[in-house]
Amino acid sequence: MTASSPNLLFGTIDEARTALADGSITSTALTQSVFDHIEAIEADVHAFIRLDRSNAMEAAKEADQRREQGATLGPLDGIPISIKDQIVTKGLETTAGSKILSGYIPPYDATVVQRLKKAGAIILGKNNQDEFAMGSSTEYSAYGATSNPYDLSRVPGGSSGGSAAAVAAGAGFASLGTDTGGSIRQPAAFCGVVGVKPTYGRVSRFGSIAFASSLDQIGPITRTVRDAAHMLQAIGGPDPRDSTCRDTPMPDLLSSLEDGAKGLRIGIVKEAFEPDGLDPEISSRVMETANQLAAAGAELVPVSIPSLPHAIAAYYLTATAEASSNLARYDGVRYGQRADIGDVRKANLVDMYNQTRSEGFGPEVKRRILLGTYALSAGYYDAFYVKAQRVRTLIGRDFQRAFQQCDALCLPTSPVAPFAQGERTADPLQMYLADIYTIACNLARVCAVSVPAGLDASGLPVGVQFICNHMQEPMLLRVARACEVQTGGYNPPTPIQGLSAEGG
Ligand code: GLN
Repeated sequence: MTASSPNLLFGTIDEARTALADGSITSTALTQSVFDHIEAIEADVHAFIRLDRSNAMEAAKEADQRREQGATLGPLDGIPISIKDQIVTKGLETTAGSKILSGYIPPYDATVVQRLKKAGAIILGKNNQDEFAMGSSTEYSAYGATSNPYDLSRVPGGSSGGSAAAVAAGAGFASLGTDTGGSIRQPAAFCGVVGVKPTYGRVSRFGSIAFASSLDQIGPITRTVRDAAHMLQAIGGPDPRDSTCRDTPMPDLLSSLEDGAKGLRIGIVKEAFEPDGLDPEISSRVMETANQLAAAGAELVPVSIPSLPHAIAAYYLTATAEASSNLARYDGVRYGQRADIGDVRKANLVDMYNQTRSEGFGPEVKRRILLGTYALSAGYYDAFYVKAQRVRTLIGRDFQRAFQQCDALCLPTSPVAPFAQGERTADPLQMYLADIYTIACNLARVCAVSVPAGLDASGLPVGVQFICNHMQEPMLLRVARACEVQTGGYNPPTPIQGLSAEGG
């Protein structure tokens, strides 16, 4: 890092871009300094499952050459970023945090990865996550847990915990996560960064390892809303390889970004402030933020999503049912690891499946496959799966009704602050309950964002969530930016500055 830019590691994409453009740093030097920084902090944070140094340095060199020739590609050219391990990367081992996929080298790039590479972004490596994106703490990774950069004894959230921790800790300017029920927004909230769950169908899922296909979406995790706009602009839009991806081109996300709070109608969701499990400090911080927006010219409108309390049950039936079907493909034949079954002439196929799946999947993934298989089984299908779909329809209707009254809904991202490592793993239900505010929006297929809203009394980040209607990403990011102006947004975590070779 040059002496003139000691804080660039924790800076924004636009700041890095300016430094690259005015020649005060090269992409090669920037990428090298990010790797040095990762080396200094990774033993404590463990945000990555693997790094891809040689390809990243090669890509950085190419970005520098393009710049020299006046052929720079766009805002992401030469910018180091990372990718959640749920998303496939050509030639780079991709495991989705699972032992069953260890050794799997994808022969292709996910559409989003292809688009980022085409935009000149430098891919540092793959971020840690809960196995197959099932979890809210990144403790269910087969490759060890990730720590929260603001307090290393606490979880970073999940399942995209490695992505959020990396971005918060200055290990790259952005990451891509996946969000099936909150896995981008909740870790973003826990790590004091911005996380966007786009509308279902806004971003191609081609190459996103399937967890629950009717809920999964890829989205960016960044330090600022503007950086999220750059990333989403690059990855979004139609893709013939994903039939659920809509044909509508991605609108310009930057032109309305600074339109401010004036005239916005912000819906305050009544049911979101009622649950017993809601931390009073989070509740008051979210209301404070809403009031700041009101002082800046927004109108606060009370709205109701009566079905919100039923979202957890509907989600955990829908998501597990889809997962039980999606994960049937890991049979020891087509991907990754196969259990050692001894002499193949004596072995039997069913035993091989059983042994591979018993050894390859972790306890949370097994729990979900069992739950999902049960919910889909004859005799229970109507009582569980079909009923969950009915509730899903009602949730969608409630959202549509609410959006008749307002432009964006405002609610907490998580009811609790980042919890201590090990605090919730013993009781899965406690882990599931922490998803109350994020999952309804996946069921309704609408878009949402978590924006940092300062720290609580213990110095832990608090996130505020905004939800907008289908395909309203320009509005979503405008609201998020207006909020960021009020709260001050991202602040580098002190424990990391202590660890860094740069010393912050
Ligand atoms: N925490 C939720 C779950 O465990 C959401 C996960 C996700 O969005 N991938 O299913």
